[in-house]
Amino acid sequence: MGEYKIRIGLEIHVELATKTKIFCGCAAAFGAPPNSLCCPTCLGLPGSLPVLNRAAVEFGVRAALALNCTVNLYSEFARKNYFYPDLPKAFQITQHDKPLAVNGKVQYYLEDQPVETVITRLHLEEEAGKSIHSGDSIVGSEYTSVDYNRAGIPLIEIVTAPDITSPAQAKAFLEQLRLILQYAQVSDCKMENGSLRCDANISLHGESGQNGEKVEIKNLNSFRALERALAYEAKRQAKILEQGGVILPETRTWDERAQKTVRMRLKAGAPDYRYFPEPDLPPLELDEAWVEEIRAALPELPLAREERYRSALGLTAYDAGVLVRAPHLAQVFEETVALGHEPQLVANWVTGEYARFARQGSTVSGKVLGELLELIAEGAISASQGKTVLEEMFTNGVSPREFVAAKGLTVIADREVLQSMVEEVLQNHQELVKRYLEGEERLLGFFVGQVMQATKGQAEPRLVNKLLVKALTEGRNWQPREE
Ligand SMILES: [Zn+2]
Repeated sequence: MGEYKIRIGLEIHVELATKTKIFCGCAAAFGAPPNSLCCPTCLGLPGSLPVLNRAAVEFGVRAALALNCTVNLYSEFARKNYFYPDLPKAFQITQHDKPLAVNGKVQYYLEDQPVETVITRLHLEEEAGKSIHSGDSIVGSEYTSVDYNRAGIPLIEIVTAPDITSPAQAKAFLEQLRLILQYAQVSDCKMENGSLRCDANISLHGESGQNGEKVEIKNLNSFRALERALAYEAKRQAKILEQGGVILPETRTWDERAQKTVRMRLKAGAPDYRYFPEPDLPPLELDEAWVEEIRAALPELPLAREERYRSALGLTAYDAGVLVRAPHLAQVFEETVALGHEPQLVANWVTGEYARFARQGSTVSGKVLGELLELIAEGAISASQGKTVLEEMFTNGVSPREFVAAKGLTVIADREVLQSMVEEVLQNHQELVKRYLEGEERLLGFFVGQVMQATKGQAEPRLVNKLLVKALTEGRNWQPREE
């Protein structure tokens, strides 16, 4: 299948994190009891009229600017007419030929190489209600309930150009898109709650012109599903083309359990949605100064932050990537570095021990982490004691300075005390010393560990290391003391 070029385009729906819905004052919240957040407008009752939520427009503009789009100062809402039980009005208010924004781009890394994907358009629309099928899936389901809490939550739809060339790139793009929208604070982008949803289309192109039609895949509920469904589909289509077959334009769905795509419908009789301008809403005209205000207030976005961490702060590419992809860690990193601590040292702590403890749900501020690093820098405690203190900070919320004082933690940096411990350890492990001297140098780590254990982690490890190496090298003629 190597001779086919893959072209993938994505269509992404993102729920905006406004407090209220796009055309009424109902709360836009996830997880409330069914049909408790509804009013005549979002239920589409006769006589009700939509009123546009300014915050939804602001969030949409912010998203568009974060994705480097051109914001159209003039756009229009349109009716998309179709019937479905989760759409009580039998039309959805969306934007059609005059969208909010066009012509953006997302830059990101794919296997450490910079790549770019074009955003064709971004428009505002309203969310439909949610159909809840009895049983595990719509197949074989006995009945369906509808929850209209979701109806009218503001959405943006983002469409990319079909310039993505592999399933892995599609996944990398979607991860970067999510990160950008999270940084821009327009959505929580939780795929598991449906606040970020993605459909993909994929077609194959052979050199001698055996081109396949575009196939759309729906129901991609995770990054993994997106990548796997596209990989499955690329293989399936290549096989058909190789056998001289024809790819039909169709809509398929990803069957998570069977790990394959399944046909939903052929595109032949594609529905005509009878779009027309929404008569109950005036055209959306934006003030250029307001758009510029939103642009000026955009927070630092992930790519810019990653560049800054690498070039200005001198972090490794790996650490910069880890921090930028975990905004809560990046924040602690920033706070700690702002106190004057060395960036790479802070990054090591934050991406290592800190991240490990933070996974259990609690958090420690950069200010408090800074206090711990200060204690280590002052030489009051060792780095390995620091890890114990950090754990206490996470589990019991202790202040590092008070905890160290209360527990009487100190570093043993006394050469003579350590020297005698070093000698004792070597004496107790003469067989290992012999092997070390015969070239098994990795045993040094064992000796260091023994001394650290003997001091309950309170020894200054660099000093222990130095004393051990010295004792061992001088001990090329090293002999156990005669007592
Ligand atoms: Zn409502």
